[in-house]
Amino acid sequence: MLSYRHSYHAGNHADVVKHLVQVAIIDYLLKKDKPFCYHDSHAGAGLYSLASEQALKTAEYETGIGKLWLHQAQSPALQSYLEVIKSLNTDEELSFYPGSPKIAELMLRPTDSIQATELHPSDYPILASQFIRRRYSRIENQDAWAGFKAMLPPLHKRGLVLIDPPYELKHEYQDVVAGLKLAYQRFPQATYAIWYPVIERAAIEAFIRELVSTGIKNQLRIELCPLSDTDSYGMTGSGMLVINPPYTLADTMRQALAEIQPLVAPNGDWQVHQLVLE
Ligand code: SAM
Repeated sequence: MLSYRHSYHAGNHADVVKHLVQVAIIDYLLKKDKPFCYHDSHAGAGLYSLASEQALKTAEYETGIGKLWLHQAQSPALQSYLEVIKSLNTDEELSFYPGSPKIAELMLRPTDSIQATELHPSDYPILASQFIRRRYSRIENQDAWAGFKAMLPPLHKRGLVLIDPPYELKHEYQDVVAGLKLAYQRFPQATYAIWYPVIERAAIEAFIRELVSTGIKNQLRIELCPLSDTDSYGMTGSGMLVINPPYTLADTMRQALAEIQPLVAPNGDWQVHQLVLE
C-alpha cells in the first residue's frame, strides 16, 4: 500500500536541501561535453502545483522555497537552484514547484538521458506524461530496486543516481543499503545522492553508519536541521549522503547552506562532512 504523496510536501525545507544538492551535481556534470545519465529511483509526480488542495492543506512549501523565493542569491548553487524554480514560474507568483525528475529535465541537454521509476498508480501517469516527447528518457511504473537491476548500468559512462524513498516503512532503510550496494556494483563510477530524514537522531546515525560500513569510498554528508533533535515524533531536518561527489561539492554546499540557514533554519544548524575518503 503506497500512502505517501509528495504533493503534500513539495518545496519544503527537505526538498530545498535535496534539490540544491541535485542541481549542484548536475551543474558539475554539465561542465563536460560528454553526455551522462540521470537515474531517479523514487521519482514522484514531477511537477507540483502549490495551489493544489494537498499543498495548501500542509503549506509545507512555506518552510522551504517560500522563504527563498524573493531572496537575492549570492552563492552559485543557490543561484542555479532558484533559476530552475523561476523558469517554471513566469509571473511574479510562486505557483509551481518541480520535483527531482522535472529539475533534471529542465537542466539536461537533449543528448543526456533520464531514467526514472515511480510505483504510485496515480503519480506515475502524471510523471510519464511529462516525458512523452523527450527522446532519451525511460520512465517506468516499476519498483525502484527492480529498476536498478533492469536499467543499470546505463549506456552513458557518467551519471547521477538519486535515491529518495518516503521512509514510511521501517524496512526502507535496509532497502536503501541493499539497493545502493546493488547499484554501485553495476555502476561504480556514478555519483549517488541518498536523501534521508532526521526524525530520531540515534536511528539516523545508525543508518549513516551502515552506509559507511558498506565499504564504498568517498562519502560526503550534507545536512540541514531547522529544529533541534527531539524525543517527540516529527522530522527536524534532513540530509543527503553523496557518494563520489564532485570534488567541488563540499565547498559549494557549505556556501549555499550558510546562506540559506538564516532564512530556512534561523534556530537550526547545518553540517557538511566527508565521512569516507576517496
Ligand atoms: N524524488 C521526488 C522529488 O524529489 O521530487 C520525490 C519522491 S517521494 C519522496 C517518494 C516517491 O517514491 C513517492 O512518489 C512514492 O510513490 C515512491 N515510491 C515508494 N516506494 C517505491 C518503490 N519501491 N519504488 C519506486 N517508487 C516508490
